[in-house]
Amino acid sequence: MPDVAPTRRTDIGPPHYGQFLPPIVQANYGKWRYHEILRPGVLVHVGESGDRLYTVRAGSPRLLSVQTIREICDVADRYCDGYLRFTSRHNIEFLLTDPGKIEPLIADLAVRGFPVGGIGHAISNIVHTQGWIHCHSAATDASGIVKALMDELIGRFTETTLPGKLRIALACCVNMCGAVHCSDIAILGIHRRPPKVAQDRLPKICEVPTVVASCPTAAIRPVRRAGVESVEVNEDACMFCGNCYTVCPAMPLNDALNDGVSIWVGGKVSNARTEPRFSKLAIPFLPNNPPRWPEVVDAVKGLVDAWAAHARKHERMGEWIDRIGWPAFFRLTGIEFTKLHIDDFRHAETTFKRSVHIKGSGIGDQGSGIGDQG
Ligand code: SF4
Ligand code: SF4
Repeated sequence: MPDVAPTRRTDIGPPHYGQFLPPIVQANYGKWRYHEILRPGVLVHVGESGDRLYTVRAGSPRLLSVQTIREICDVADRYCDGYLRFTSRHNIEFLLTDPGKIEPLIADLAVRGFPVGGIGHAISNIVHTQGWIHCHSAATDASGIVKALMDELIGRFTETTLPGKLRIALACCVNMCGAVHCSDIAILGIHRRPPKVAQDRLPKICEVPTVVASCPTAAIRPVRRAGVESVEVNEDACMFCGNCYTVCPAMPLNDALNDGVSIWVGGKVSNARTEPRFSKLAIPFLPNNPPRWPEVVDAVKGLVDAWAAHARKHERMGEWIDRIGWPAFFRLTGIEFTKLHIDDFRHAETTFKRSVHIKGSGIGDQGSGIGDQG
């Protein structure tokens, strides 16, 4: 009898990512000497062994059809032995070992409509959420706004003309499946009215204790109406998060008139120079105006232009605001300061620890060194 039981294959959890790394990354794992940007959208990583890994970064539309994924895989098969990766901001990175294939790959991507860029002092691909295409609690659309915005800002993706990195994110409600809390510019869908209780349907399709427990601010109370169990909402305590709607379809809070978009600035994940920081409110509300969202596009473009004109080299949006101060930020961007900008909920802001120093265990601290640009 063997001493060790045979390895059992299960469907619990993903397979270890190491088995999918390109051979050159496996051979040089943790032993990269440096990387540099060869041109907009093209990186080279150089290993201690002298191996060179080239990365061509392209924008993706984020919501991908099977046909588009197959097309991307075909491109990777043709130029990169099938190796590619998606970054956390949905850039597609084609990983090559033959520098002679870089130009043909870029030309092929251009024909197919995938722009190359997003590395260094440029806008990276915009990370966004599901929007009206998929999610029930969306206060705004996601891919529609991002498409309209990037049509205007594509030159900031394909060229490295900005003072520093610029990360833009969009989440279509405050549940925030996108990285809006930690991006230089964040577009956040907001509801402005509490959920409406459909009294006729709620007792039939929802469990009252579950609905009450779903509310993070205890704004939902059980009530009995005409002998039937139901709930009521304390509107003053509601923060329009939509959690209750997730567990109970009889509490919709979508509102065509009052839903819209807010804009936040100054967040980042990076530990470079200053510790990671949360985004702060810049514009409290802009209306939903599909299909091209001109108010949102103008506002974000104005923020990008103001930062590009006044920031120092390498300075992120939040660092620029720290240096010039918020009064100067509002003056330079032309954004009106209102009472809604005054932050009256400060507890988490002052107690969350955000610096890298909390990672004391050493576990998982060593990445592959590839694609750390996000
Ligand atoms: Fe749904 Fe909100 Fe996530 Fe958008 S951010 S996908 S609305 S939960
Ligand atoms: Fe509570 Fe959020 Fe529902 Fe408001 S929207 S009642 S805060 S769960």
